[in-house]
Amino acid sequence: FSGPVTLGHALAAQAEERPADVALRFGDRVTSYAEYDRHATQIANGLAALGFEKGDRIAYLGKNSDHAVELFLGTVRGGFVFVPVIWRLAPAEIEFITRDAGATVLFVEEGFESVPFEGRKIVMEREFANWRDAQSEDLVDTDVAVGDAMLQLYTSGTTGLPKGVVLSHANATSMRPILRASGLDWASADPGTSIILAMPYGHIAGVGLAGGAVLAGQQLIIHAEFDPAATIRDIRDHRVEYIFLVPAAIRIVLSHPDAATADFSSIKGLNYGASPIPLDLLKEGVERLKCDFAQMYGMTETYGTVVSLPPEDHKPGREKVMRSAGKALPGNEIRILDENLQPLPPGEIGEVAIKSPSNMIGYWNRPEETAKTLIGDGWLRTGDAGILDEDGYLYIQDRIKDMIISGGENVYPAEVESALFGHDDVADVAVIGVPDEKWGEAVKAIVVARPGCEPDADAIIAHARERIAAFKCPKSVEFVEALPRNPSGKILRRELRARYWEGQERGVN
Ligand code: ATP
Ligand code: MG
Repeated sequence: FSGPVTLGHALAAQAEERPADVALRFGDRVTSYAEYDRHATQIANGLAALGFEKGDRIAYLGKNSDHAVELFLGTVRGGFVFVPVIWRLAPAEIEFITRDAGATVLFVEEGFESVPFEGRKIVMEREFANWRDAQSEDLVDTDVAVGDAMLQLYTSGTTGLPKGVVLSHANATSMRPILRASGLDWASADPGTSIILAMPYGHIAGVGLAGGAVLAGQQLIIHAEFDPAATIRDIRDHRVEYIFLVPAAIRIVLSHPDAATADFSSIKGLNYGASPIPLDLLKEGVERLKCDFAQMYGMTETYGTVVSLPPEDHKPGREKVMRSAGKALPGNEIRILDENLQPLPPGEIGEVAIKSPSNMIGYWNRPEETAKTLIGDGWLRTGDAGILDEDGYLYIQDRIKDMIISGGENVYPAEVESALFGHDDVADVAVIGVPDEKWGEAVKAIVVARPGCEPDADAIIAHARERIAAFKCPKSVEFVEALPRNPSGKILRRELRARYWEGQERGVN
């Protein structure tokens, strides 16, 4: 494609060009591009027959499957908006999301049917295929434009309540031609190659990959959820060339017993993201997988990756930039802003802003949040603090909301946490700011001690003192059994803070 298209048109074009090629593989079930295209039309017609109109929200709750992928393409072909919900959330959170989206139909996988929902439920394995196959194969005219909303994803809720991020066809499709033209194989693989969908469907790294496979004409091998043994087996059986995994999943794959005898020779590139990769894991990965590694930085609001650290920056001698998230992908720009939203020079820390063709339309029903985030001229505030160096490499420091202001100095919890991680007694750690009469906020470490040790708070603080400036070091340590995390594995520092801040306003929030 030479410019942005709708996802529905992209699928039709693939069906024309490669009708018999495998598009979707889920267990024993194989779907060709011609069948995928036909099913998408039937789903679009079926939703119209249920009385839905352009822009209506169609919710899905369940794990990854071929039917769930078809439902996405059928929904967007019909001009409706797909709302995949993360199944790992608690029932009350799921109810909050479907209600917030205003969905009146929920396609639900068996096992999740009991979730509270007032509208109509259609159960996937039991009802979906029959319902789909009963619909007409001739597409009723739908009039879908590239700028129309087609996907509504909820943010991970790391820093507050999840927000509905409304994304358009253009957000999904406009970057691909730019990446292809730039020859970035590791950012956009070739037609016909296989790619594994293992990340949860309710995140951009899940559903976004399904859309990307349509644009590229790839074969999507769908895993209901991340499974290291299945990953290793399918890489070999389907000669997988590119794969996206979060760093924690890479570690699980490499330490799996099957990895010792695995055949990884087909893999050309491994893309990782959502958090930086520990150096030891990266070295082990490169050595054992013998492939290119590329880091991805982005968020729901930018339809995923907008900044990337390319394979050549993962080689020996590039250790300094290896700590960065990378450079803006072609077609994207990065700026660092001060509190008044004015651009800062290289080397100074501030809020990361992104200008990208994949920047969201806005937050659903939250005009104030949208106005605060989309600040004009195509720029989006990320809520992340970062530094841009002279060469355009972006160093993410932390979330702005988690920054601690102690005695007028800014402290980024992530830096303190990585200093504390080096101590033998520390199995897990989160750093937060707690109210302090003298300093405004004081740095506090919440530590999960390594099982069997007698943890010593003073020794842990002393360990930090040898590594980072005194004002950044914890003034106190609390030991807990476990840290609260959301389904994407991110620590919920706001929950840890809540106990200390009851009844008091925190400046940064
Ligand atoms: P909420 O906005 O509700 O608090 P969230 O920001 O965690 O949730 P996501 O959109 O899933 O929701 O996550 C995007 C965030 O993940 C980014 O803003 C950034 O803080 C972090 N992130 C993503 N990729 C990387 C990376 N490569 N390195 C470091 N941090 C990353
Ligand atoms: Mg966010």
